[in-house]
Amino acid sequence: MVTLLKNRKDASMNLPKAILFDLDDTIISFTSAKELAWEKCCEVFVTTEAVTFNSVTLLHKILEKRKWYWSDPARHKAGRENMKIAIRQIVQYAFEDLDYYDIEKSDQLADNHSALQDEFLCLFDGAYEALQILSDLNIRMAIIANGKSQIQRVKLDRFNLNGFFEFILIETEVGFRKPDIRIYELALEQLSLSSEDVWMVGDNLEWDIEAPQKVGIYSIWNNFRKEGLPINPSIIPNKIINSIADLAKDIRAQSQLGI
Ligand SMILES: [Mg+2]
Repeated sequence: MVTLLKNRKDASMNLPKAILFDLDDTIISFTSAKELAWEKCCEVFVTTEAVTFNSVTLLHKILEKRKWYWSDPARHKAGRENMKIAIRQIVQYAFEDLDYYDIEKSDQLADNHSALQDEFLCLFDGAYEALQILSDLNIRMAIIANGKSQIQRVKLDRFNLNGFFEFILIETEVGFRKPDIRIYELALEQLSLSSEDVWMVGDNLEWDIEAPQKVGIYSIWNNFRKEGLPINPSIIPNKIINSIADLAKDIRAQSQLGI
């Protein structure tokens, strides 16, 4: 089900010449892999170590500390520079609250999480087919992703996605990150298209919706959690979808109607 929230000169009725895609939680199911990995790590930990708390307590404590850790802009910035250390710190803080002080085992749990998260990564249902549909419709496509080049490129290779995209803009390669509008300006420049011919699809309201809207790009929110917008949202997507599979089907239907 595709919901149109905000008309912009009937942009939804004209097929785009190009679509820019976010990667994590738009094409790749990232958050689910992360959550599942935490659950499994906590379960394994409490069954292999002599501890007084259960896996649910440990999981809730880690999630609480994770939320706290990333809520501070300075910590967020430092943590993104070295994710492995950041995750180790989060787990250590969680264990401290539970009066558990074995740093070696704490670090091991954190490292296990990172490995397990990679293992659980997968494409959203129908995502590959959606990209194929759009490619068959001759819609040009590109990726705009935050994060480290090596990490993002490994995922693109692993899921055989490179062939769909004309170019891939990754934070550490271009030198700026969403929501910096320069990354969208660069994409328009590389496409040699004006903003009214380009759509952006992503799950982050600030990075993937508000920022591209500032340069006039029609922006589609991937509401993969199916939770809807926050109450009194300050950012209004041009369109809301639950998956890129829905979006591709919608675009194909429009193209068949000759719109
Ligand atoms: Mg994302």
